[in-house]
Amino acid sequence: MVALNPISNYKRLVIKIGSALLVDNKTGLLRSNWLNSLCQDIAKLQLQDYEIIIVSSGAMMLGRQILGLNAKNLTLEKLQACASVGQIALSQNWTNALSKYDLIGGQILITPNITEQRRFYLNAQTTINTLLELKAVPVINENDSVATAEIRYGDNDRLSARVASMIEADCLIILSDVDGLYSAPPQSHENAKYENAKHIAKVSEIGSEIEAMAGASSSHLARGGMITKIEAAKIATQSGTDMIITSGTKNHSLKALIDGAKHTLFSANQCPKSARKRWILGTLEIAGKIYIDDGAAKALKNGNSLLPIGVTKVEGEFSRGDIVAIFYSNEKEIARGLAGMDNIDANLAKGKNSEAIFELFETISRTELVHADNLVLITGNIVIK
Ligand code: GLU
Repeated sequence: MVALNPISNYKRLVIKIGSALLVDNKTGLLRSNWLNSLCQDIAKLQLQDYEIIIVSSGAMMLGRQILGLNAKNLTLEKLQACASVGQIALSQNWTNALSKYDLIGGQILITPNITEQRRFYLNAQTTINTLLELKAVPVINENDSVATAEIRYGDNDRLSARVASMIEADCLIILSDVDGLYSAPPQSHENAKYENAKHIAKVSEIGSEIEAMAGASSSHLARGGMITKIEAAKIATQSGTDMIITSGTKNHSLKALIDGAKHTLFSANQCPKSARKRWILGTLEIAGKIYIDDGAAKALKNGNSLLPIGVTKVEGEFSRGDIVAIFYSNEKEIARGLAGMDNIDANLAKGKNSEAIFELFETISRTELVHADNLVLITGNIVIK
């Protein structure tokens, strides 16, 4: 039987790479042959029109080696210094490896306020989308050198799931030192009681039974272990993104996955677009109201963005990224979305065409008040005169 390519139905992929794969445990040095093989796989996928976003760990491990800090328990300050030194090396290695296959890398360092606060979220989302439009490969890590214990993810499993949800990825692929989830925690496999632990190929719902299979973190290099992977799977699947865990230890592990290598698929029961729409529609806190004319209502109905020219009135105080309700003449809310500007700018821009807006605000590059990607129509309420 020919194994099915598990990623054939996806377009946008986030690939998470743990420190244990990138950095040799014994020497603390980067596994450059492995990285080259991965970049070669990425180049092939890009040629097939996949959009690839990398979340790469490894900064701290590389920094430790460079600074010669081998002690086991380093202080937070020293770990942050390691991250700072290691991140430069990590990015350099990514640039070199990607360029071997004519790819360009773009570094993005993220802290939780970026994925959790919508204003930053929109900025990061726009940058990642722009990199993808330019065919560059975003390479993302946590900004470990400034994030303090209270305000950090601490593991790139959850970070990668947040990123995947932020950019509506179709699938998050976690390359790991294990080939998926087993019916017993990984660290207990050698225990006779668990020796018959079975590989789980597909998880459709993450309940307590699945959580129990994860156990505690088993690898001393990676921070994650199976528990944070299950947490990541919850974040991803709730946002409509599927997640795959597969082994990344060997060279060309992405190719191996496509050729049918063992993996666990956590499937989302909705697509990213509908999950995002549900999230926007489900938000109870509306920060502002925007009233629009016939032309704008028609544009929205046709799936276009809301431009300020069609706006007749702006109410409320809101920031970029807040949820606003959009009203048409019959006083019914016809759409809801994330504001692309705050209420002050929206008031200045209303009724103006894009040219006038560019003149008004020298630094902006987009003039949508609500971008089509961040807008949900309440179709039953749209009756255009
Ligand atoms: N962000 C950390 C690093 O680059 C890794 C966190 C993790 O292992 O998940 O070293």
